[in-house]
Amino acid sequence: MTSNTASYDNLVKLLLVGDSGVGKSCLLLRFTDDSFTPSFITTVGIDFKVRTIDLDGRRIKLQIWDTAGQERFRTITTSYYRNAMGILIVYDVTDKRSFDNIPTWIRQVEEHASQSVDKLLVGNKCDVDTGRAVTYEEGLQLAAEYSMPFMETSAKSSRGVEESFYTLAKMVKKRVIDPEE
Ligand code: GDP
Ligand code: MG
Repeated sequence: MTSNTASYDNLVKLLLVGDSGVGKSCLLLRFTDDSFTPSFITTVGIDFKVRTIDLDGRRIKLQIWDTAGQERFRTITTSYYRNAMGILIVYDVTDKRSFDNIPTWIRQVEEHASQSVDKLLVGNKCDVDTGRAVTYEEGLQLAAEYSMPFMETSAKSSRGVEESFYTLAKMVKKRVIDPEE
């Protein structure tokens, strides 16, 4: 490998799923651009964003796909899931309905994605303290039921965002890239 900043050792495809409005696009923007916009982003037209990270000396290019508004009716096309190595399944801690829909999202992932795909449950908007509808413990318990790790995030304050994407990337690396370690 050359020292060219555009170079990388491995390409990892990640996806974001979850109800419309939970903050998927904002999480992606926070992770790839370190920015946040309080206005609702119309994701039409945005397919994916990339960020190359360093894990144990390996340059891993994360290609992170956004649903581009397809999630509104919870009908994501099969092609969206194709070749996904890791999936962030996101709800909004201020929106109980988005939390109650998580099993539906998990079922859809199990139906369309590879059986071995790595999954991380994410409760976003943890910066909001008045109006919280789902406790940290409820998120943790649901994640445990599906044997998934769990994290709360705020795309607004950045809290937990780096950790979430890194955790998922490390899971993929361990399973796909360096399984012997
Ligand atoms: P998507 O439909 O899942 O892609 O959701 P968006 O990323 O478009 O976000 C929906 C709305 O939630 C927007 O108004 C965002 O500004 C807001 N939002 C997203 N993340 C956060 C967060 O962490 N905290 C707060 N307070 N608002 C957020
Ligand atoms: Mg969006």
